[in-house]
Amino acid sequence: MSSKNVFYGINAFTNEKLEGEFINASEEEINKVVEEATKAFDIYRKKDKSSIANFLDQIGEEILNLGDALLERCHLETALPFGRLQGERGRTVNQLKLFAAVVREGSWVDARIDTAIPDRTPVPKPDIRHMLLPLGPVAVFGASNFPLAFSVAGGDTASALAAGCPVVFKGHPAHPGTSEMVFKAIKEAAIKSGMPKGVFSLIHSNSNKQGELLVKHPQIKAVGFTGSFRGGKALFDYANSRLEPIPVFAEMGSTNPVFILPQVLKEKGEQIAVGLAGSITLGVGQFCTNPGLSFVENSEATNVFYKKLGESIAEVSSGNMLTSGISKAYNEGLNRISSLKDVVELAKGKENEIANRATPKVFKTTISGLIENESLAEENFGPSSVLVEASSKNEIIKAAKDLEGHLTATIFGTDEDFKNYQELFDILEKKVGRIIINGYPTGVEVCHSMVHGGPYPATTAPQSTSVGTNAIKRFVRPVCFQDYPDGLLPDALKAKNKLNIWRLVNGNLEK
Ligand code: NAP
Repeated sequence: MSSKNVFYGINAFTNEKLEGEFINASEEEINKVVEEATKAFDIYRKKDKSSIANFLDQIGEEILNLGDALLERCHLETALPFGRLQGERGRTVNQLKLFAAVVREGSWVDARIDTAIPDRTPVPKPDIRHMLLPLGPVAVFGASNFPLAFSVAGGDTASALAAGCPVVFKGHPAHPGTSEMVFKAIKEAAIKSGMPKGVFSLIHSNSNKQGELLVKHPQIKAVGFTGSFRGGKALFDYANSRLEPIPVFAEMGSTNPVFILPQVLKEKGEQIAVGLAGSITLGVGQFCTNPGLSFVENSEATNVFYKKLGESIAEVSSGNMLTSGISKAYNEGLNRISSLKDVVELAKGKENEIANRATPKVFKTTISGLIENESLAEENFGPSSVLVEASSKNEIIKAAKDLEGHLTATIFGTDEDFKNYQELFDILEKKVGRIIINGYPTGVEVCHSMVHGGPYPATTAPQSTSVGTNAIKRFVRPVCFQDYPDGLLPDALKAKNKLNIWRLVNGNLEK
């Protein structure tokens, strides 16, 4: 940074400045973009479903039009491999298309109609109609680890725009050049689709101040966030300290416990070890669904499993992390874990002298070691993981009961294991957003049924998901219209179902 208000994109391979200066947004600029978003809301919320769907599709088109220049800048700013970024761009564009399809189909508004019964006794029943309406301007904070799919045109933006909410996006300081390019693509799409000025804005900053001002702005009506626990909790606290508190949908990551049950450990321990090592080290471990904590029951099979896991981890070299700050935090985390009593290093990857280095590491402890060192259950963002060895089924069940909220839990088992550990399923349903059987938690499908969420501290809104089409529900509220003349009702609720959407009419789902 050359002056207080200017910052630069940083080459994640060398930590050198990249081309282009970015200015920390002033309070006046933040007020201006939020005011524009507020004005845009009145126009945007009235746009018909095909206009909004076309806008979302057009954003995808404009992102593709940026070509490889986008991926090249992103690669330098994040050190993420080009191929991975190609995949992430595809995911981003498909996510926009998926929300466009949801909006075009239209039934997501949850139209419910209870027609009047004027002659009901002792009192007449009024005509009551319900639907979901957009909340207003939404502040979105992108994640450093998904510079496309969870950033400027990522899932939070796509779902908020799909819901009819303008977005003010707080760019992540780890990829400002990428953010600016995608912002220009959205601006172009807005112009081509006839969307109002202010439907989408980007503010840059590399200090907490701008984010705080944005969340505390009285015209902001909701917040979407992906990142650290500290960041997400700070935004949640700002939102709750406002005169008018607003919902904060913060996805803050977790350690995603994995349970490897005894019979499957005996039958497929080595195979699971190879897969687990792959999941721990994928993308230099920079996934919020990274498996950070795994439980096994002590048996003859555990040593075979440990050996194979150690060999598989040893084959993986250090990788460049997204930023020097994230690498520093990771390496401090490794030192902290290494210094804990009753924790031993089980496996280590190949160390390379590269910038922003993260070398994979797996630690081992016992259930009492986990109880004694509560911090082991916290995320050390990167390719590190802790194996917890239990001496009995009871210890595993007790550890599961003691878990806090997580995004995912994974159970490896045979049918016999599942019978023996039936209560584990019940416990985990209360703890996480997604339960995976005989698979790995990394890899989050964007689809209608996905839940990427979970109880606190994984998120600040356990009733929601930040991935998948249900994410749209975060940015709306139910409104009901009582005894409205048909002409005044929104199209979704008029007597004639001209939008041809699914509606719950007097308790029956119909078109
Ligand atoms: P972060 O520090 O939480 O930052 C995310 C965004 O929130 C940034 O735009 C940041 O901008 C803003 N922010 C953070 N704290 C804030 C505060 N107190 N007030 C206002 N705005 C705030 O996440 P990160 O930079 O991506 O990575 C840091 C750590 O987060 C990592 O070491 C890792 O532990 C974790 N992480 C988790 C995930 C996940 O998927 N759950 C993803 C990436 C990282 P400013 O810095 O400009 O304020």
